[in-house]
Amino acid sequence: MTKIKLSLIFVLAALLLPLAFSRFSLAKKEPPLEDNQEVPEVDGDYPDPKNKDVRVRVFVYKEKQAKVSTPSLVCSLGDPDSTAVVAKGNWHLPGSWTYNLNPASVPASVGSANLGTIAGNGFADWFSASGSKVTFTKGADTTKDRQAYDGKNIIAWGRTSGTALGVTYIRYLSSGGLVVDVDTIMNKKFLWSWSNSATCADTASYDAENILTHELGHWMGLNDMYDVANYREATMYGYGAKGEAKKDTLTTGDKAGAAAIYP
Ligand SMILES: [Zn+2]
Repeated sequence: MTKIKLSLIFVLAALLLPLAFSRFSLAKKEPPLEDNQEVPEVDGDYPDPKNKDVRVRVFVYKEKQAKVSTPSLVCSLGDPDSTAVVAKGNWHLPGSWTYNLNPASVPASVGSANLGTIAGNGFADWFSASGSKVTFTKGADTTKDRQAYDGKNIIAWGRTSGTALGVTYIRYLSSGGLVVDVDTIMNKKFLWSWSNSATCADTASYDAENILTHELGHWMGLNDMYDVANYREATMYGYGAKGEAKKDTLTTGDKAGAAAIYP
């Protein structure tokens, strides 16, 4: 091999090596949030990117509490009522609705075997609040953890952006408001627990039933309420906190809001 050929190989290697490393570092990154790029993960009501007759209402549930570092189960929280009626949005569920759970995505601190009970408790509350007008059925489990208009109404822990505790995507017909697809993605980056009580909660983490019952209120057709004085006790209050479990149960105003959607 001549000196020229050798030096050519060195030059080529010098050019290609950084390329190889940059490809390697790209491959190590997590994949993009494909569907989420089309539907903004920001509170709002958007046209569905692929279906002109469908709109997507997105609710981002934010945290509102300073960080607490030491886990501690507190059981004297109380479960105050409130009569302020929660406002409804532009959508409603049909008379029967099937949901799909992703047990494999549930944090170990909550327990995948508990997801059926946690979701079941929440749906039972809202079934009752609808005056038994909306029946919920647990469908086949899913391994999906991203929102999509795919006929699966999923509850999963997955990736959400920023400080969102959970994000719910409601697809509904722009004419008439009938819901056609709903997905709730809980943020796996946070610490989660489940006390199985409306008056006990771990002060260092978010109670899964507390947060999920709020998200299911959006499935029903209810909005977030941000007026602290009137709505801080409501399940549909717009912020969630660690060490909170009162949203496991609905206030009189939450129930009145749901009843108004299903007269
Ligand atoms: Zn919300």
